[in-house]
Amino acid sequence: MTIHELAEAYRRGETTPSAVAEAHLARIAALDAKVGAFLTVTRERALAAAAAADARWRAGAPRGPLDGAPLALKDVLCTKGVRTTCGSRILEGFVPPYDATVVERLEAAGAVLLGKTNMDEFAMGSSTEHSAFGPTRNPWDLGRVPGGSSGGSAAAVAAELAAGALGTDTGGSVRQPAAFCGVVGLKPTYGRVSRYGLVAFASSLDQVGTFARDARDTALLLGAIAGHDPRDATSVDAPVPDYTAALAGGVRGLCLGVPREYFGEGIDPEVARAVREAIETLRGLGAVTEDVSLPTTDYGIAVYYVLAPAEASSNLARYDGVKYGLRTPGAKDLIEMESRTRAAGFGAEVKRRIMLGTYALSAGYYDAYYGRAQKVRTLVRRDLEAALARVDVLVAPTTPGVAFRLGEKADPLAMYLNDVFTVPTSLAGLPAVSLRCGFSAAGLPVGLQLIGRALDEATLLRVAHAYEQATGWLARRPALA
Ligand code: GLN
Repeated sequence: MTIHELAEAYRRGETTPSAVAEAHLARIAALDAKVGAFLTVTRERALAAAAAADARWRAGAPRGPLDGAPLALKDVLCTKGVRTTCGSRILEGFVPPYDATVVERLEAAGAVLLGKTNMDEFAMGSSTEHSAFGPTRNPWDLGRVPGGSSGGSAAAVAAELAAGALGTDTGGSVRQPAAFCGVVGLKPTYGRVSRYGLVAFASSLDQVGTFARDARDTALLLGAIAGHDPRDATSVDAPVPDYTAALAGGVRGLCLGVPREYFGEGIDPEVARAVREAIETLRGLGAVTEDVSLPTTDYGIAVYYVLAPAEASSNLARYDGVKYGLRTPGAKDLIEMESRTRAAGFGAEVKRRIMLGTYALSAGYYDAYYGRAQKVRTLVRRDLEAALARVDVLVAPTTPGVAFRLGEKADPLAMYLNDVFTVPTSLAGLPAVSLRCGFSAAGLPVGLQLIGRALDEATLLRVAHAYEQATGWLARRPALA
């Protein structure tokens, strides 16, 4: 069941949060050896939260529709007393002394947190193959990747091991795995959701996002986690609308922009066809469409893969063996201890990014790489903002292809190219959502991406909801068990 269906069932007394938590924990025990979505299952914490939710529903005083909802958290979000690894050996033994703001907010809403999900190490990747603890597999085809870096969260929701989940999106890490796993993945506007307690990758891009099975659940999750937080200096102090109420508007009269550059060379024809059909469906529902051009689209990858590693090289300097997690013993001095710890604790992709980022920031190269990339970032943002001044929402594919096979993208550049349609929005700080818009001939989900104006997540959810209501895609479920 979806989160909103569960809340209905709790209200009618047909089931209880404890029974639902037990059912999800049993399903995780039965299936997660195949999927690999979870790194840690917090059984005791979940059952205690569920029992408290039972009592509230029984008393007719639930905290809201998330009360008793079984959810999962990407292992990049700090959880007090529960290890938080970021998919890395270097944080294998790290137990945070505090909860991330989003975790606090979900628990305040009554959510039952089932555990922490697998991810590419430090959120660097597009397949969850870069986790130090083994890959996650796509519930639609266990030989394929779930996408990444939030692959564990996406797979958990697709495999019905959790009703919803949180992930993070720096360059596509919510939207791309949502597309590959056929669930709804929302990256909010930069600043919409607090980053306090989110382990930093690239701070000017990182944003917490949601995974759910439909737009209504996405509205519930976003409503719970959005809003100003004085503990995050980049958090936006703007009112949070009622996202559920905003679902109802329909698409009649909305103008949808179709960016030409998102349908060009390199896109899988099956993806292009499914997305074009979705656009026709939205037109049939009364939306107006307009062709637009985003000429800087091609620069997104190059800019992102300078800026994100640059910021990462700075953020990851804190893993020095002194304060957190791993320390390799036996070194004769501090420098040797740090260098041995980092050599042993970080995986190949993380090391690659630290080296690239350090290079891009170093004296003599800063202007040519980091400074130049910042300027092009502004052009990418202006491009998107100019288009969104004319249209309400941009509609495009989320990814150029469907889920690929494990091991298929061994070349880092081939992996990076996956992010071509998600990084421009990240660079611009704009909100975007990916939702299921069909299947390939091989039965793999295709993702439709909707990109909106800053802080206008409500319109994205409204379009997503109208599309879901008009199509039958959500009925299909992976044949896992
Ligand atoms: N795939 C992109 C990367 O490897 C995006 C990751 C993310 O959004 N965290 O950096």
